[in-house]
Amino acid sequence: MFKLNRLFILILTWILVFPLIPQPSAASPAAKFKDRAYYEERGDIVWEVPTEDKCIAFTFDDGPDHRQTKLILDVLDQYNAKATFFVVGERVEKYPEIVKMQLARGHEVGNHSYRHPSFQGLNKSTMHNELNKAQRAIFQATGHKAVLFRPPGGFYNETLINVSKENHLKFILWSWHQDTKDWRAPGVNKIVKKVLSNARNGDIVLMHDYVANSTQTAEALKQILPELKKQGYAFVTISELLTHKAAPDHQLRKVIH
Ligand SMILES: [Zn+2]
Repeated sequence: MFKLNRLFILILTWILVFPLIPQPSAASPAAKFKDRAYYEERGDIVWEVPTEDKCIAFTFDDGPDHRQTKLILDVLDQYNAKATFFVVGERVEKYPEIVKMQLARGHEVGNHSYRHPSFQGLNKSTMHNELNKAQRAIFQATGHKAVLFRPPGGFYNETLINVSKENHLKFILWSWHQDTKDWRAPGVNKIVKKVLSNARNGDIVLMHDYVANSTQTAEALKQILPELKKQGYAFVTISELLTHKAAPDHQLRKVIH
C-alpha cells in the first residue's frame, strides 16, 4: 500500500512539473527575439520621439502619385505644415517632378525601397539592391540624398537594420497609436478620429499618398491640421523631429541623435 502511494505521488509530481521544464527546441527561437525596447534604446529604430515640445511628424508612404500627392501637398501648404514622404523608387522614376516639388515646398523625402516588396525572407544582397536602387532614383530625380529609410509593412530584422546602416539611412517606423490605416480607405471620420484622439508630442503619424481610388487622406488632413494647429502643434519633418530632446521622464523611448 505504501509503495503504491509513493509511486502515485511520483507520477503526479512528474505530470505537474514536466510542463515547467524548458524544452530546448521551443526555447531557442524565443531567446533570439529582440523586442522594441532593444532596438529603440540602441537608436537602431525610431518609432516616435516623445518630447516636451509640441510637434508632430506626418509621414506619407508609397507615393509619389500624380493626383493624391498633389492634393496632400496643397493641404499641407495651407497650414504651413512640413511632412515626410517615404517614396517608392520605381514611382519616383515615373513622377520625378512630384518628388522635386516635395523638396521645393520644404518637405523631406525618405527611401521606401525600389519596388515595395515584402522584405521578409529576402537575402542581404536583394535588400541592398532595393535600398540602393531607390537611393539612386531619388538622387537622379532631385540631386538629393535621402537619409531616412522606412521598410514596406514596417518589417525589420537584424540584417535589414544593418543594410539600412550600411546605406547611411536612419531606420524610421511610426507611433503605434498613430497608424491611421488610411490605405484601407476606412472613411474620412475614422482617420480624423484616430489622429486627433491620440495626438501626443513627438508622434510619427502613418499615412499614405498612394491609395487606390481614395482621396480620404487629403480630406482627413483638412480637418486634422487646423485642429492640431489650434492646439498649438507644429508640423515637422522627421529629420527636424529627431533634433528635439526626448522628455526626461521617458524610460523606454530614448532618442539617440
Ligand atoms: Zn508602403
